[in-house]
Amino acid sequence: MISLSGLSKSFGANAVLKDINLDIQEGERVVIIGPSGTGKSTLLRCLNYLDKPDAGVIRIGDLTVDAAHASRADILALRRRTSFVFQNYALFANKTARENITEALVTVQGKTRAEANARADAILSETGLSDKANAYPAALSGGQQQRVGIGRAMALDTELMLFDEPTSALDPEWVGEVLDLMRRVAEKRQTMLIVTHEMQFAREIADRVLFMEGGRIVEQGPPTALFDAPQDARTKAFLRRVA
Ligand code: ADP
Ligand code: MG
Repeated sequence: MISLSGLSKSFGANAVLKDINLDIQEGERVVIIGPSGTGKSTLLRCLNYLDKPDAGVIRIGDLTVDAAHASRADILALRRRTSFVFQNYALFANKTARENITEALVTVQGKTRAEANARADAILSETGLSDKANAYPAALSGGQQQRVGIGRAMALDTELMLFDEPTSALDPEWVGEVLDLMRRVAEKRQTMLIVTHEMQFAREIADRVLFMEGGRIVEQGPPTALFDAPQDARTKAFLRRVA
């Protein structure tokens, strides 16, 4: 179980997250939607301390971190329990697809080179990229690069996978293969927290959809409820705009 309570974050005078409270069950797929600039990325980034929350408590499994007083060990422990898929892939340009996947397995998880290579090869096969193992990112399509980005996160086998608009930087022709891979991850009951503008995908994959605006969770519910019968005027207005 993952639990956020009272999570808050400001950048200077700009209060970006305002008292976020959220429980996520093991195996649950939660999708966050909402207008841009509303704190969606900051929420994901606070969960693994890419951004430092100002206040709140983050619980992931047996780990509890009081954000205001997190030690270096707490931060490392949070990062070990989460993996992150970035909008812009964030691959190492000077490493091959296989090396991008093995890097954290060796440096963060302490696997031997042989163990890491075996794990990477299994993931490359699962993501349909075995023939690209030795290719550098520049030689891969956007869709292939993001599949490496997802494979890198899958390889870590963490309690929570975070996806921040994983298809937003892609040419339309590559979106489908990335969503297909995310569907396969979801089928394994991997706990996922996904920010996306792909509403049809959210409807299919999500156990629960959150609508965020102005640094708060305004409304949440199963996709059919949130998309077909939204209650809050802000949710209704947003869904009308993106329809
Ligand atoms: P979203 O992902 O919903 O589009 P973000 O979480 O990226 O929103 O941003 C929310 C707000 O926080 C925006 O006003 C943005 O300008 C601000 N913000 C995000 N990151 C930083 C940062 N590193 N420094 C200052 N302001 C930031
Ligand atoms: Mg964002």
